Amino acid sequence: MSSFDYDLFVIGAGSGGVRAARLAAQTGARVAIAEEYRVGGTCVIRGCVPKKFMVYASEFPEEIALAQGYGWTAELGAFDWARFKATKDAEISRLSGIYAANLAKAGVQLINARAQFVDSHTLELPSQGRRLTAAKILIATGGRPVVPTALPGHEHGLTSNEVFHLEQAPKSILVIGGGYIAIEFACVFKGLGVETTLAYRGPKLLRGFDEEVREHVTEAVVENGLHLRLNAEPMGIEKTEAGLVCHFAHGEDLTVEAVLFATGRAPYVEGLGLEHAGVALTPKGAIAVDAFSRTSTPHIFAVGDVTDRINLTPVAIREAAAFAATEFQHRPTRFDHLDVASAVFSQPEVATVGLSEEEAVERFGEIEIFVTRFRPMKSLFAGKPDRVLMKLVVQKATNKVVGCHMVGPGAAEIIQMAAIAVKAGLTKRDWDETCAVHPTMAEEFVTLKDARPWRSETKA
Ligand code: NDP
Repeated sequence: MSSFDYDLFVIGAGSGGVRAARLAAQTGARVAIAEEYRVGGTCVIRGCVPKKFMVYASEFPEEIALAQGYGWTAELGAFDWARFKATKDAEISRLSGIYAANLAKAGVQLINARAQFVDSHTLELPSQGRRLTAAKILIATGGRPVVPTALPGHEHGLTSNEVFHLEQAPKSILVIGGGYIAIEFACVFKGLGVETTLAYRGPKLLRGFDEEVREHVTEAVVENGLHLRLNAEPMGIEKTEAGLVCHFAHGEDLTVEAVLFATGRAPYVEGLGLEHAGVALTPKGAIAVDAFSRTSTPHIFAVGDVTDRINLTPVAIREAAAFAATEFQHRPTRFDHLDVASAVFSQPEVATVGLSEEEAVERFGEIEIFVTRFRPMKSLFAGKPDRVLMKLVVQKATNKVVGCHMVGPGAAEIIQMAAIAVKAGLTKRDWDETCAVHPTMAEEFVTLKDARPWRSETKA
């Protein structure tokens, strides 16, 4: 047995930290995990899970409108925010409790305290006035919302952290940003009946996604009733008797009850004392790691958002599992970050796996694009103008489907399955040989016939 207090000490009990701690402890290692807030991390406490409950809550007005189209005399009643919040909070507490119980079952010691490095094997718990040592240390502290602090009046704004604790819904809200969190919350608030404006500094939402997907979503959210300001650079926020007044560079002043900053997240490394442990950061301030999640100090590792590779819960979990396999199960394993699917739970939903058209052209030169747009069957009777977009990106030389994108109801569920085929490197012919399930939206992915030229080819 080593002279250290623990074989593994994990800092941060979020998705990545908890998975690594449990898997390591199951091999008989002596493992402790420190958490300064609540067990479960961003995903469970103030991210994916409570957000998805809010998404579900916000979708009912749309369902009622659809029901009316089918002949129901359904009427939309009032939304009881307090009741929803209490139910959501109870569920989050239950889930957090399950995470803690699973740690205990695996034999992991949970320490409710902040931990910081004294040296590369020693951690201090300031609130408990003690020090601990460990042979290996895993940093899994996640990320934190970034607020543009140079913006005058930024202190009047909320972040995604506080949104979950609001005691009542604001009457009006301005969401600033154009990424995952901005679009998701803007659609949630709009669905809950809040007068919602989304202001993005660029010309199209969701930078980094396929351009055609971006165009489609940008139009669709407006059709759904969201007030959208594009190329809108906020210059300052003023607190007045009428509410918060946001001044934009294009001259507009918008008065709202609340402002939400969804302007990105940054790795949470402050106060860890990394300089005492020789742990280096990337130029963007994330913990620098190799393919095995090893930092510049060989017995210290990092997984999840704090490493800023792909900031998604399932990725953190897989990085953590690979770390545990390598360091505690004698199976050197690296997580492959290629073809990780993701979804934006906006209305309409956006989901994607693999390369965008633009990335594929850059990588392969010649590609084929298969696209379909159609009105979803379910909403036809309600006379809604919404359109689904489904798109495959195919490498011409190999016929492999290298990208799959969808905007529309159920996109996340469909893309999860399509991701298997993309990850497996199946060809368009394989997709075509798969018989359709009818009538579904997903069947369009196996019945796409006519390739169209890629966009830069058309423009050329
Ligand atoms: P993103 O990086 O996705 O988006 C940040 C947005 O804020 C961008 O549109 C950016 O504009 C804009 N922005 C940045 N700085 C400023 C500024 N100073 N003034 C105005 N606008 C600004 O970050 P998010 O916070 O939305 O999400 C963080 C990450 O969390 C995501 O990338 C994703 O990995 C993860 N996530 C995943 C979810 C999911 O899987 N469903 C849900 C939520 C989060 P520009 O594009 O011009 O840079």
